[in-house]
Amino acid sequence: MRTSFSDPVWQKPKAAPAFQSALSAAVTLDAVIVGGGIMGLSTALHAARAGLSVQVLDAGAIGQGASGLNGGQVIPGLKYDPEWLIGHFGNQRGAALVDFAASTADVVFDLIRDEKLAVPFMRSGWIQAAHTETALKAAASRDRQWRSRGADVKLLDQAEIAAMTGARGYLGGWLDRRAGVIDPLSYTMELARVAAAAGAKVAERQKVVKLGREAGLWRVSTQGGSELRAKSVVLATNAYTDSLLPGLARTIVPLHSFQIATAPLPADLAASILPGGQAVSDSRRILIYYRKSADGRLVLGGRGRMALPSSPADWAHLERALVRIYPALAGIPIEKRWFGRVAMTPDHLPHLHQPEQGLLAVVGCQGRGVGLMSAMGKRMAGYLAGGDGEQLPFPLSPIRPIPFHAFRQVGVAAAITWYRMLDALER
Ligand SMILES: Cc1cc2nc3c(=O)[nH]c(=O)nc-3n(C[C@H](O)[C@H](O)[C@H](O)COP(=O)(O)OP(=O)(O)OC[C@H]3O[C@@H](n4cnc5c(N)ncnc54)[C@H](O)[C@@H]3O)c2cc1C
Repeated sequence: MRTSFSDPVWQKPKAAPAFQSALSAAVTLDAVIVGGGIMGLSTALHAARAGLSVQVLDAGAIGQGASGLNGGQVIPGLKYDPEWLIGHFGNQRGAALVDFAASTADVVFDLIRDEKLAVPFMRSGWIQAAHTETALKAAASRDRQWRSRGADVKLLDQAEIAAMTGARGYLGGWLDRRAGVIDPLSYTMELARVAAAAGAKVAERQKVVKLGREAGLWRVSTQGGSELRAKSVVLATNAYTDSLLPGLARTIVPLHSFQIATAPLPADLAASILPGGQAVSDSRRILIYYRKSADGRLVLGGRGRMALPSSPADWAHLERALVRIYPALAGIPIEKRWFGRVAMTPDHLPHLHQPEQGLLAVVGCQGRGVGLMSAMGKRMAGYLAGGDGEQLPFPLSPIRPIPFHAFRQVGVAAAITWYRMLDALER
């Protein structure tokens, strides 16, 4: 059997349309959205519902960016806990940001329900699994902070986490019942379908190569020679950001996340591994994340090499991690291997920019954008529809390229090797 070097396990909805809206320079749009992932499509859907005329352009096919390739774990919250956010952003903005962070998974599951999206999903929670005492303490603090705000969360002891995951090696963990799992490719394509049905135009294989100003409007040029005019432009290109807006790509460090999926598990193993269907991320410095798919496979992901993969051996570290936590899976074939890009920022927060009037950019999903970008798109649509800056969960900040950006990736690769070694020592 031929092995593809990027072969996701996720399914397109059966009735997936082609997204090929005609591009016209004759009309002035309210907004052109560059990037047809979850961020761009959620913005388009909500903007169209608010009565705005919008056009989404994606350089590739819908679902080929991170949005269709990810682990499908719908996790609320940010990398930081509520008390840190309030300390950092102040009482008012920080509290609003905590509310926003708490709501991101709701946005996804509400969209699936309200828009009747054909998306396999299960809302049975996310477990943050702790493999050290330090990680357990962090989980206890996170639990206290979210529980005091009414979130449906729970600390797990060693016996509980063993029963819920069927995995070896955890001291305990934290269950966030607000979370769940989806098929991310179906979700992205369904968002595109309902955005188009709501009146947004969506065109794939339309790479934007130039932005210009003309008589108070934005002129958007595509590689194919089309031109569009719009009052606003939203760059929703995240880890796939190119040189379209000078400096923007140098504000993020794009990293590769790799994933594997086993063959569908035999019934006895399926009953002992994640019997409740939760998603899991563990507490290692180079974390792994896993879940079962709707068709009963174990899907596991983690950091991958910075260069493009060239053989199945590039996923071998994930196969070793799989057997380390589930020894019974040794010998179960790995049927799918794939990877995508995530965008990290130095402060581990998403960044919103507005370098010129009507030109907006969102980058830095930190590998947790399914809920975050769904919710951010909704807020961005509110902003485009005339809302003030308070509509946006994060303050608009100047574009600040990371110093020595070219060397940053070398540093990241070295840090990954070092952290893998520390993780191995803690096993
Ligand atoms: C392997 C992997 C696993 C992950 N697992 C999870 C997870 O389990 N849970 C979670 O919450 N998050 C996860 N993430 C992160 C999540 O996928 C992203 O945060 C999210 O999809 C970002 O959505 P987006 O719309 O901002 O960007 P994307 O989906 O990446 O879309 C950006 C789009 O911009 C387009 N583009 C770029 N330049 C141009 C241009 N010049 N013209 C036109 N189009 C352009 C690209 O073609 C691309 O389609 C994972 C990511 C990866 C890669």
